[in-house]
Amino acid sequence: MTKVRFERVSKMFGDYTAVQELNFEINDGEFLVLVGPSGCGKTTTLRMLAGLETPSYGRIWIDDKDVTLLPAGERGISMVFQSYALYPHMTVAKNLSFGMEVRHEPKAERAVRVRRVAEMLGLTSMLDRKPAALSGGQRQRVALGRAMIHEPKLFLLDEPLSNLDAALRTQMRFEISDLQKRLGVPTVYVTHDQVEAMTMGHRIAVFANGRLMQIGTPQELFRNPLNREVASFIGSPKMNIVDGDLFGIESRASVRLLGGSFKLSDVQVGALSPKAKPKIQGGVRPQDLHWVQDAPSRCDQRISGRVISIETTGAESFVMVKIGEAMVNAKFPSFAPVKVDDNVDLAFDVHDLHLFDPETGGALLTIDVAAHKPDSLSPPDPSLTVQHK
Ligand code: ATP
Repeated sequence: MTKVRFERVSKMFGDYTAVQELNFEINDGEFLVLVGPSGCGKTTTLRMLAGLETPSYGRIWIDDKDVTLLPAGERGISMVFQSYALYPHMTVAKNLSFGMEVRHEPKAERAVRVRRVAEMLGLTSMLDRKPAALSGGQRQRVALGRAMIHEPKLFLLDEPLSNLDAALRTQMRFEISDLQKRLGVPTVYVTHDQVEAMTMGHRIAVFANGRLMQIGTPQELFRNPLNREVASFIGSPKMNIVDGDLFGIESRASVRLLGGSFKLSDVQVGALSPKAKPKIQGGVRPQDLHWVQDAPSRCDQRISGRVISIETTGAESFVMVKIGEAMVNAKFPSFAPVKVDDNVDLAFDVHDLHLFDPETGGALLTIDVAAHKPDSLSPPDPSLTVQHK
C-alpha cells in the first residue's frame, strides 16, 4: 500500500515562488493527473515528489515516512519523462534491463523481469531491435517498461505523450490507463492537456500560478468548479464567462447578464454564497447553451444575438454569438441552417449557470460539491521549514 501526502509544500527559486502551499494526498492505487497551463508548477511538484528538487518549505510523506530530504534513489519511485531518453546503441532488452544491471541485480532475475514487462507492453517481438527501428508509440512503451521493471511503489509521468501524433496519443492514453489499472501502482501524471486529464485521471489536480486550485474527480471538476480558473480550464470548448449583476433577495434572487434577467431556482438560492455581492460573473458551458430550435424542454431561458463565426466538427457545431458587448459560444446541431450575421435565439436552463466572484474568482453557487477545497493560507508553521543539509 502506498499513500503520498504533501503538507504545506512550497518551492522558491530565488525570490520567485514556483509552487505555494500544496496540501493534498494521493491514495493507494490512484491515478492522479496534475494539469494546468504552462508554468503553473506541475513539473516542479512532480520533481519534488521524485526527490529531484527539495521543497523550500513543508513536508512530503510516502507511507507515513517523511521523505522531504530523502535522496531520489531511495524513494522507490520510477519516473518517465517527455523525452524518452532511451539509449540509442542498446537493444530494447538492454534498455529495459540496464537499470537493474547498474544495481547489480542477478542476471536470472533481470531476464525474468524483461520478459514479464515486454509481455505486458507487447514488446516481446522487438526485444532485439534498437530504438531507431521503433515507432514513437513503441519507444514510449520501452520508456514505460524501463520504469516498470524496477517494480516501483509509485510512478511519475511527465507529459509522456507530447511527442506523439494525435491518433497515437489517444491510443497511448488508453494503454497507460489500462496498464496502471492492471499494476495498481499509484501514478502521478503531468499534462497541460485537459482532455488527457479528463480521460485518464481518477482524480485531477488543477494548478494555476503555482497554486492548487481544486482536486477532484473529472465529474466534480466539470460540474462544480470551485473557481473561475478550474471552470475555464476544464471542459472543451471553454466555459463562457460574462459580467453580470445579482439582484433581489431570497426567493426573488435573480441574475442579469447577456441582455436578460433570470430568476434563480430555490435550490440555487439555498446554495448561494453569503459572500455574493451585486457584481458577479456568470458562466455557462457551450454545451449548455443551445440553439432554441434544438434545445431540451428544460431550457426555458432565452437570449439572442448575432452569429460571428461557426466551427463545425462534423458531429456538432459551435457557434460564436455576439450579445451586446459579450461573445458566447453555443452548441448547435451539425450543419444547422445558420450563417454568419444571422440573428439567433439561444436557450439554457438556469440550473446550468455558474456564478463567480469577479474579484477572487471563487464560485458563488456550490451545489453538492464533494471535491476537496484547497486549504486557505495560514501563518507558517516553523516545524515545516526545510533544513537544507
Ligand atoms: P510546463 O507545462 O511548461 O512544463 P509547469 O507547470 O510544469 O510548466 P514548472 O516547470 O513547474 O511549470 O515551472 C513553474 C515555474 O517555476 C515556472 O515559472 C518556471 O519558469 C519556474 N522554474 C522552474 N524551474 C526553475 C528553476 N530551476 N529555476 C528558476 N525557475 C524555475
